[in-house]
Amino acid sequence: MFVDVHCHMDFPQYNEDRHQVIQRALDAQVAMVNSAISLEGMKSTLDLARKYERVYPSLGLSPPELNESVVEKALDLIRSHQDEIVGVGEVGLDYYWVKERANQEKEKKYFARFINLAVDLAKPLVIHSRDAESDVLNMLRGVDVDVLLHCFSGSMDDVAEAVSREYLISIPASIIYSKKKQNIVKNTPMDYIVLETDSPFLSPKPGERNEPVNVVKVAEKIAEIKALDVEVVELVSTENAKQFYGLGF
Ligand SMILES: [Zn+2]
Repeated sequence: MFVDVHCHMDFPQYNEDRHQVIQRALDAQVAMVNSAISLEGMKSTLDLARKYERVYPSLGLSPPELNESVVEKALDLIRSHQDEIVGVGEVGLDYYWVKERANQEKEKKYFARFINLAVDLAKPLVIHSRDAESDVLNMLRGVDVDVLLHCFSGSMDDVAEAVSREYLISIPASIIYSKKKQNIVKNTPMDYIVLETDSPFLSPKPGERNEPVNVVKVAEKIAEIKALDVEVVELVSTENAKQFYGLGF
């Protein structure tokens, strides 16, 4: 059994064949956590999780969303579905798309509210961080919450800091060709590694649509890098994911 800890099956890229894509993963023993990043996405994420036994919902908001009333609604929706969800996120900071200093400050203000909500609900946090690793780590310092760094691309010092805080680092399918991701895997003990696809993004073949069944390829690549049996990578990463999200299988 594998777990794709982060994907977006609610996205329009799957409008033609969503059921087949999800079923293909489930048939290959791949469970998945679908992360919502918009208000509409939250509703469809909850619907998918109700429909499929091993599709689990995490609710969050894309960091470049700077509209206060959207943020308020998102916080309310997460709170009102707290018994259904396995995590809060993805949430975080994105300085790649948001370059203006004033808007970055706004992002930080909203991110703090999602952090507080996760603490309040005792839910794990799924973090999106792009060009903002040190601010993300600073804001989470000392906060009593379980953290998963989705598609983390910080420096090796950031990775070491994250591991020292026992955060999970999720490794996407771009590890097939990304030297940086391969390096992160080399420097991260297996106990802190989980697998993700971030489907439809970060395909093992650049330019193609990604899908959750590809976490098997991530496991194979990690096994190769760490000179482990793929079964070991499967077992440990799945246990890490189950513990983190509290998955009941
Ligand atoms: Zn994502």
